[in-house]
Amino acid sequence: MPTRAKTFDSHYPVTGDAIGTFPIHTDADVRVAVAQARIASDKWVALGFRGRKKVLLAWSKLLMERIEECTALISMETGKPVSDAKLEASLAAGHLAWAARHAQEVMRTSHRSPGAVMANMSATVERSPVGVVGVIGPWNYPIFTPMGSIAYALAAGNTVVFKPSEFTPGVGVWLARTFAEVAPFSNIFLCVTGLGDTGRALCEAHVDKLAFTGSTKTAMVVAATCAKTMTPVVLECGGKDPVIVAHDADIKRAAENSIWSSMSNGGQTCIGAERIYVVESVADEFIAAMLDAVKNIKPGEPGVGNYGPATMPKQLEIIQSHIKDALKSGGRAIYGGAKSVKDPYVEPVILVDVPEDSMAMQDETFGPTIIINRVKNVDEAIILSNASRYGLGASVWSKRQGKKIAAQLHCGMVAINSTISFAAVASVPFGGVKDSGYGRIHGPEGILEFTYARTIVRARFQLPITFTSFKRTAGNDKLIIKLTRLLNGRFG
Ligand code: NDP
Repeated sequence: MPTRAKTFDSHYPVTGDAIGTFPIHTDADVRVAVAQARIASDKWVALGFRGRKKVLLAWSKLLMERIEECTALISMETGKPVSDAKLEASLAAGHLAWAARHAQEVMRTSHRSPGAVMANMSATVERSPVGVVGVIGPWNYPIFTPMGSIAYALAAGNTVVFKPSEFTPGVGVWLARTFAEVAPFSNIFLCVTGLGDTGRALCEAHVDKLAFTGSTKTAMVVAATCAKTMTPVVLECGGKDPVIVAHDADIKRAAENSIWSSMSNGGQTCIGAERIYVVESVADEFIAAMLDAVKNIKPGEPGVGNYGPATMPKQLEIIQSHIKDALKSGGRAIYGGAKSVKDPYVEPVILVDVPEDSMAMQDETFGPTIIINRVKNVDEAIILSNASRYGLGASVWSKRQGKKIAAQLHCGMVAINSTISFAAVASVPFGGVKDSGYGRIHGPEGILEFTYARTIVRARFQLPITFTSFKRTAGNDKLIIKLTRLLNGRFG
């Protein structure tokens, strides 16, 4: 993207050193990018499913060939361990390949029954790409999260303009550069960089759909901005994901997975465990297993720690305020505490018996902290899990009641006897309800999200009577009422 604009730096969160300089793309730059993507759109559609699949599979292969380069960059911009970045990048490449391989089948024209009254018609529903998709991404998983929109939108036949987080612009630019290496022509996938204002400009640039991943607070601003131009949105927002540990859970496995889910990536995972409801009869055993699982977990720079620093420095204050509020309102720290926040790191914190109305139970903490609250039974755990403004994911640990519990949770995704497993299964949709957002990425639903339905109803032969003409007679009216009564049963 050419630009006349100012620049901003990205930083290595461990030291705060500047590691890259990027343009702040202006409203005009963003409009140009969207216009270029729109021009490329017809050619991208004309390439057909097979042509697009070839390009996207080549990109997926290239991402894996260049995984060292990609993950070094992710690690530098986020501070996360390279091995975590590798897992993230591999999952992103997997989603890309899945979307490329399944778009044709998912978007195939479907034939519908026209019903007896309209039996002379053939009814079909076609799926068309929406056109140009704007993607706005967060910094916590800078390749995996936006790829959930980018891959599925491209596979469906859209061109894409991507605005990465200001904390991870290098990853966004790298993605666009590698795509350009396999692209048959330019402007299919563009990256614009900048601060929040560049994101706002993308919302106002008349894209045909805007896929946003980030905090609920920004999502509300994005939705309001997009509403002004009737731009439809997909919103993938924050969570306060619960874990339910039933009496028949595999306690050791539940504890090890919950520690990983809550602490890995420094707790900066939208679908990471934030609160655990454990049934009283196994609570002591579970808490002991949690303490055992956490004892060797430490933050540190890549290559040293199990997880890195807070990528976004201002999050440290929020994490500390949640811990302090939990303790002030009657909760207890059984591992770490308010002093565990040591800029730029946060050491693991385990809190117990935290009141449900405290900040730490209500709001997304986004740090390596976990709260364990005891409940009488699974029913109470379900009620408390659902008593949240968020509804992204959940994890359930039970040998026999997993599906029954899962079916009662008000959220978009549930992992039974596993943690965040749904994010790695490309064939299932990803997304939340309530303040966690709406719309879906991943899976067939993720492809359809970036399409619109076009209904085609064709007269196969003409009937001797006509309903859609001013020549319709009183006899025709009687006939349609009689037929409808006959075929659908008497009304009332
Ligand atoms: P933010 O909401 O702060 O930012 C998200 C993106 O929006 C960034 O690219 C940001 O740009 C951009 N932005 C900021 N202001 C505007 C605006 N007015 N108009 C348009 N775009 C704007 O989220 P974070 O980057 O801090 O990400 C963390 C959050 O993301 C957490 O709440 C986490 O739960 C959530 N998340 C949700 C996921 C899901 O799939 N449900 C997955 C991963 C994270 P800039 O950075 O330049 O300000």
